[in-house]
Amino acid sequence: MIDLRSDTLTQPSEAMRAAMAAAPVGDDVYAEDPTIGELEQRVAELLGHEAGLFCATGSLANVLGVAQHVRPGQEVLCDSGAHIARAEMGAHGALTGVTMRTWVTHDGRTEPELVEELLAPDAGPYLVSTACVAIENTHNFGGGTVQPLDALTQTSALCRDAGVRLHLDGARLWNAHVATGTPLADYGTLFDTVSVCFSKGLGAPVGSVLVGSAEAMANARVLRKRLGGGWRQAGLLAAGCLYALDHHVERLADDHAAASAFAAAVTAGSSVTLADPETNIVVVPTGSLPATEVVARAAARGVRVSTVGARVVRAVTHLDVTTAQCADAGAILAEVLQA
Ligand SMILES: *Cc1c(COP(=O)(O)O)cnc(C)c1O
Repeated sequence: MIDLRSDTLTQPSEAMRAAMAAAPVGDDVYAEDPTIGELEQRVAELLGHEAGLFCATGSLANVLGVAQHVRPGQEVLCDSGAHIARAEMGAHGALTGVTMRTWVTHDGRTEPELVEELLAPDAGPYLVSTACVAIENTHNFGGGTVQPLDALTQTSALCRDAGVRLHLDGARLWNAHVATGTPLADYGTLFDTVSVCFSKGLGAPVGSVLVGSAEAMANARVLRKRLGGGWRQAGLLAAGCLYALDHHVERLADDHAAASAFAAAVTAGSSVTLADPETNIVVVPTGSLPATEVVARAAARGVRVSTVGARVVRAVTHLDVTTAQCADAGAILAEVLQA
């Protein structure tokens, strides 16, 4: 079975497990876990921020990040395909009282004009005030698209001029960094808070880090505990993330090459023409076939992909599949699409 449903499916390697087993740990609710401290500090520095907070999931890091900027009843703006809007089980509304309005894009790529049209800071007593804009990079449901740096820079400037804060959902910011060579801090410093995941392309079993000002991270630590997300000797998990930082960032280029090979094989073997993917996610329209049927037929032939729309499937390349396997998987999917 070639499993391309998600880059979260990877198994920790022997070397990563050894690093985890050897990690010095302490009680993180007392802020006494040295391995977590090292990870938080390292990630904050990489992204050009003061402090970090280790979290169990990217969803939790996003909820904590957005909540630093938006009071209950205020709004965060994002695009309609954003993970925070679609895939976090309504946490921002349900848990922290944040409301949301969205702009619509074709592939998740940010257009500053669309953001500007929605911005409503200080909307007075009649309308909801915008407190934050959230951007996703790379864009998951958009197909692993990399946000162009100039669009981010413009969006950041117009938000800052309007007194609106910025949160970056950087679950796959590592992929954007490797695909473009843009330093992580060049992305990071355009935002007030940034979340990054270690359990996606970086191949760690668990973990995300939120970064921002020392004050914001102190407040986020309180909210994390309130939500039941305080943890103890979680340095065992942070050690997997540190291992991933040292060994699994540059190799994301391999995942991007594997995604290209997959897309090329789909294009070569079917009437679907796919653009060369920018990173490790390939979104494939299924034409007249329902996505669920394509997923079932591909699985019967040893290839697992996931449904992301009624007639759209998604394949994600990762650490545990080779480029050759991905090319084979693309050829099989092409046959399924032609059937
Ligand atoms: C995976 C992902 C997250 C976080 O997901 P968790 O499963 O909560 O770790 C956040 N944003 C994006 C874009 C993602 O792909």
